[in-house]
Amino acid sequence: MASQEWLEKDFYAILGVPQDASKKDIERSYRKLARELHPDHNPDPDAEERFKGVSEAYSVLHDDKARAEYDQIQLMKSGRGGFGGMHAGGGGVNFEDLFGGGSGGGFSDLFGDLFSRGGSRRAGAQRGNDLRTHVTLDFADAVQGTTTEIRMRAPGECETCRGSGARPGSAPTTCPRCNGRGLVTENQGAFSFAQPCPDCEGTGTVVTDPCPDCGGTGATTRDRVITVRVPAGIGDGQTIRLAGRGSPGERGGPAGDLLVRVGVRAHPLFARDGDHVTLRLPVSFPEAAMGAKVKVPTLDGPVTLRIPEGTPTGRVLRVKGRGVPSKGDLLVTVDVEVPSSLTADAREALERYAAAAPAADRSKLEQLTGQ
Ligand SMILES: [Zn+2]
Ligand SMILES: [Zn+2]
Repeated sequence: MASQEWLEKDFYAILGVPQDASKKDIERSYRKLARELHPDHNPDPDAEERFKGVSEAYSVLHDDKARAEYDQIQLMKSGRGGFGGMHAGGGGVNFEDLFGGGSGGGFSDLFGDLFSRGGSRRAGAQRGNDLRTHVTLDFADAVQGTTTEIRMRAPGECETCRGSGARPGSAPTTCPRCNGRGLVTENQGAFSFAQPCPDCEGTGTVVTDPCPDCGGTGATTRDRVITVRVPAGIGDGQTIRLAGRGSPGERGGPAGDLLVRVGVRAHPLFARDGDHVTLRLPVSFPEAAMGAKVKVPTLDGPVTLRIPEGTPTGRVLRVKGRGVPSKGDLLVTVDVEVPSSLTADAREALERYAAAAPAADRSKLEQLTGQ
């Protein structure tokens, strides 16, 4: 992605933002400039060139990784990064030699690494943008995993030309300016730079007969249906990354990713504790005191839960394997209910119970406080 051109260009100045500009500022400035300079709206012959420059600056600065690399290069160029000697060299340093050498110190090693990273791709190739969307799932689907479909209007590879940009039946031809090399050499002051060919933008080919549906760009914006496999146990607010399902790359670059943020609807009864599902279970005092077998709902059908004799309120009983599949359990919190009103029969029975049962043990309270 890094290129030798980065040495020459001040992307911050091109976008009119300071070097510590936030991503938001960069986006805002880019949108404003892109609107002003777009060749469709701006008849000024220089506008198109500036539009291209602004797009290039934005593609680097809004990509965290690319921006870090660019900043690093600029830092070294200015000498602050330990490469102060570069401008001192008088006559004709050739960057291709410098970068190809690999014998030198940190500078050429670093640059060799930066530039070789893009080497397997074509010069000027740019990764497509990441796209973002969201989906809302039912509670049970999030716990158990599901496959869902997302409909979105987004850029994708042009189906007519399969992304080549050439009219079906025709093919891109070898670029006459660089003879298919994708690079042109330019002398600027003391340096000679190999730059991506401006005619073919480094691809080595030009489209002479553009595809009518995408105008030669190889991409169209259309309604897409994307199938998303949601893993079991996904949580509210988590993001699924679908590699290569974002915007198509430019000039042979790879597509970006699609980031799907997942929302999970709350359930009126169940909740989550990591991979466990939780449930509060109302239990009567006789059930808690004498023990009982109680039917309990789960996300996949009811189970019978044994409440042991003498279960206090708040105790958590575990139903194995009824949480996130093969990871979690159902955790049932016992909630001993106290009736808010009593029938005459119930009151009479409770009075007999009170007479027969030992009183609550409050001896500790007295012992520890003397009250
Ligand atoms: Zn097309
Ligand atoms: Zn060319």
